[in-house]
Amino acid sequence: MFKKILIANRGEIACRIIKTARKMGIKTVAVYADADKSALHVKMADESIYIGESPASKSYLVIDKILEAIENTQADAVHPGYGFLSENAAFAKTLKDKNIAFIGPNVTAIEVMGDKIESKKFADNAKVNTVPGHIGVIEDIDEAIKIAENIGYPVMIKASAGGGGKGMRIAYTSDEVSTGYELAKSEAKSSFGDDRIFIEKFIVEPRHIEIQVLGDKHGNVIHLNERECSIQRRNQKVVEEAPSSFLTPKTREEMGAQAVALAKAVDYDSAGTVEFIVDKNQNFYFLEMNTRLQVEHPVTELITGVDLVEQMILSASGALLGLQQEDITINGWAIESRVYAEDPFRNFLPSIGRLTKYIPPKQSINDGNKIIRIDTGVVEGSEITMFYDPMISKLCTHAPTREAATDLMAEALGRYIVKGIGHNIPFLSAIMEHERWKTGDITTQFIEDEYPDGFQGAQLSNQDIIYLAICAVHMDHVENQRKRKISGQMNSHAIPFETARVATVNNQEISFNLMSEGNDYQTITLENENKHHHTITSNWYPGAAIWQGKIDGIHIVAQIQMTSLGYKIHYKGGILDICVYTQREAELSRLMPEKLQADMSRFILCPMPGLLSSISVKEGDHVEAGQTVCIIEAMKMENAIIAEQNCLIKSVRKVKGDSLQLDEIIIEIECK
Ligand code: ADP
Ligand code: ADP
Ligand code: MG
Repeated sequence: MFKKILIANRGEIACRIIKTARKMGIKTVAVYADADKSALHVKMADESIYIGESPASKSYLVIDKILEAIENTQADAVHPGYGFLSENAAFAKTLKDKNIAFIGPNVTAIEVMGDKIESKKFADNAKVNTVPGHIGVIEDIDEAIKIAENIGYPVMIKASAGGGGKGMRIAYTSDEVSTGYELAKSEAKSSFGDDRIFIEKFIVEPRHIEIQVLGDKHGNVIHLNERECSIQRRNQKVVEEAPSSFLTPKTREEMGAQAVALAKAVDYDSAGTVEFIVDKNQNFYFLEMNTRLQVEHPVTELITGVDLVEQMILSASGALLGLQQEDITINGWAIESRVYAEDPFRNFLPSIGRLTKYIPPKQSINDGNKIIRIDTGVVEGSEITMFYDPMISKLCTHAPTREAATDLMAEALGRYIVKGIGHNIPFLSAIMEHERWKTGDITTQFIEDEYPDGFQGAQLSNQDIIYLAICAVHMDHVENQRKRKISGQMNSHAIPFETARVATVNNQEISFNLMSEGNDYQTITLENENKHHHTITSNWYPGAAIWQGKIDGIHIVAQIQMTSLGYKIHYKGGILDICVYTQREAELSRLMPEKLQADMSRFILCPMPGLLSSISVKEGDHVEAGQTVCIIEAMKMENAIIAEQNCLIKSVRKVKGDSLQLDEIIIEIECK
């Protein structure tokens, strides 16, 4: 067995790999760039080596620097994680030549499968169902249009070297093919340094279902069932689950068999994933094979009990696969939510900065029959930088049924406190509450279908709004009683006070009457306008970020933020501002004028911190709705800024190459 493994990666996956190596008694070496000097993976590893400047192209992606680190630490094996060098055949080959084990598949498998065009050809030959389309490189826009028209719209324009949902565009018309081709090409060039593009049929309303495979160096390959990853945004997975709620046992078996056949055809000898797109009628088509550990591998580990990293290490060391296909069972249901530093309220723009507060829900290792697992590379105080993927963590739940795993996820998300940067937890919570998620009626279009205008927070039911108003009244009461004590006004109970309470929510007033309280205010009784009584029990104290307790026996967990007048409450993906007044205060507050927002509609603002990589308009230009005015490069994505309406460019305030802050004015416009 290996003595020392170097992990050529960062973040949560580096931490994940260190855990298994430690369990196996193997020493670990972390590598890090400037931005990761005090990162968790560096602290967790036995040794760490600095490899250069923050941009991955100057550190994590530089093969020579990794080789130097291997030499200096005498590591005898390398785990590449995912992304970075994980699917780089040249890297795997160099290691092989130097007699250092690569904890991944053989070089040929990476070469063949690492390229979408080549792998599709290969799969086709191996009699695996592939997506209809043109299997070859497309030279220019004219050819792209011709091929798209042959295949029939809609089509998917893809980068052959693509990954992580990048370098990919859907086109419904020839115009969209032209712009999509250009954008995909330039995104592919900047992300992968390879701008070969191909086109295939866009399968409408499909589900993304993939098969985990595992092989050894002795010709054995098994599969570990499927994961469904249909909840995607911009072709990037957001929520995954295992098993899939859609597959029939027959389709599962057929997909498993094709995945194993494909893996065997490339002598696959590690953990890998064969991705399929599945249509409404359970027809499935091969998309690509990822020759590495996948981000969402934990859900498979949870339902099968297999440690995939351990299996990868074992097979890289030459061990015989210790598992047979019959050993693999499906135990319960697992869900993974990718917690991203992306602000759902600002069209999911990456948000960078320091995690001023970071309190994840408690991980339970087999608490009864439920598990919460968190894979992360950050702690409170860590910084999410613009250099790498904005992932904060992967939150997984495991329970006997899909419903129970969903409930556990909803609760865990509700308890997850992240402050200092924008994050997608409210959005993930909203998905868990969504009827279509609950019934398993999902496709890869789910997010676009259900949130066509972006996400403004989940709509809460009237019942939920009343519960939250009651929470607010409870908190207000606890605070009042504490203030009375602090001011030393004798015993608070001796002071007569008004018992009427008015909670204002969304310009609506909900009135209550405080009936009774327990000694420590942990229990209070409220009467509503219909003379119904509510009993509230909670040990909330002023400053606590989470209100948890029972209202009429219903268990509620909500996140609380104090505002100048009341509370901002996050619950089930919805956000409510609630103020609690006495009768008189409520009367006065009705007289307060509403604060008007400044009119910024005359400006095109920078929607995210990034680089102005091109600007296509000048002063005096007339621009039509839908026209691209400039492109902002952030987090390795090219984001086209599009005019929302016909307008005249009054002034251009920035130039190409400018580094922009959030909300900086780029262009001033005039609209009729
Ligand atoms: P797919 O390529 O099918 O989307 P995954 O969902 O497993 O597969 O995502 C892998 C992607 O994660 C990579 O292509 C890369 O963009 C991104 N990535 C690479 N390294 C890291 C990292 N250390 N932390 C977070 N994300 C990463
Ligand atoms: P990546 O390497 O970026 O993961 P994939 O080829 O795996 O690229 O595609 C990513 C996602 O894009 C898929 O999960 C699916 O949702 C969508 N997609 C890709 N190809 C097609 C297609 N032909 N039809 C419909 N959706 C597709
Ligand atoms: Mg993929």
